[in-house]
Amino acid sequence: MRICKEVQERIETTRTEAQNQCRNVTRTITETICSWLPWPLDDLCDLVTTVITEVICAIVYVVITIVSWVWRTVCEIIGVIDWVVNLVAGALEWLGNRIITFPEWVLCLTGVGFGQKNYRICPMVIADAEGNPLVPIATIQGHIRAARAVFKKCNVNVIASPIILVTGKSHLAVGPDCDADGFFSQHKLEYEHLSCCDGLLERVNCLRFPSGLIWPRHVLKAIWLSDVPGKGGCYIFPDSFVQIDDSGSVNILAHEMGHACDLLHRDEVNNLMHSSAVNSDLTDFQCCTIRTSRFVTFL
Ligand SMILES: [Zn+2]
Repeated sequence: MRICKEVQERIETTRTEAQNQCRNVTRTITETICSWLPWPLDDLCDLVTTVITEVICAIVYVVITIVSWVWRTVCEIIGVIDWVVNLVAGALEWLGNRIITFPEWVLCLTGVGFGQKNYRICPMVIADAEGNPLVPIATIQGHIRAARAVFKKCNVNVIASPIILVTGKSHLAVGPDCDADGFFSQHKLEYEHLSCCDGLLERVNCLRFPSGLIWPRHVLKAIWLSDVPGKGGCYIFPDSFVQIDDSGSVNILAHEMGHACDLLHRDEVNNLMHSSAVNSDLTDFQCCTIRTSRFVTFL
């Protein structure tokens, strides 16, 4: 959280300033007062001044250190609460949506469709320290075009908002491992909090209303970064973002979007959900599961 970091930095500078001020006070007293006194009073004055100021300085240092520790602890607790709230909200939304769209899913399996649905995504690319995108924009556009073609087979229209360049966050260039470690990582919260749209009105545009209109949440964020360790992409349930790098096939975005819609890996090489993500076939069952997922909406 930005406020945590800012206050922490302020506390650190205050601590350094306080130390410098303490030294200045000691020097001023010894130079302006003690030096005027005759021997041995001047040495005695120096000694007393040094002892008193050192004690005061030490107390100030300890107090600031305690404040800093308390602040860090509070921030860590808030971070854990934030993590749990995100997890619970995501899981509840998933469950609520699956319950509400269950009849639609069953009807879909029997061949009854409800027309075209939308799968909105917000593409974002992390920039390096110089502000350049870590994955070329042309590559990202290729991934989006491929995803559009894949989901069309399920009569789902992929709508991508303009690609956002995320600057000043180059520490997010390498994603966490796509496993249990990643599930508990701090990075996850930072990705989750990346804002797709700034400003109140734009924010509303970036919300999706689940098929069941339970409560609005952010559209799926597709985040391109320099490396998803050991993989071309990653989705961890119940996040509302996928991570993509440019080492995988052109269908990697569609594959991760499939995971976000609850699709699991399949053995058929031609299927989009084969772990290689090279091909793009989808079964009727997969299409119905996609169409009734929480990221796919009528509006
Ligand atoms: Zn996969």
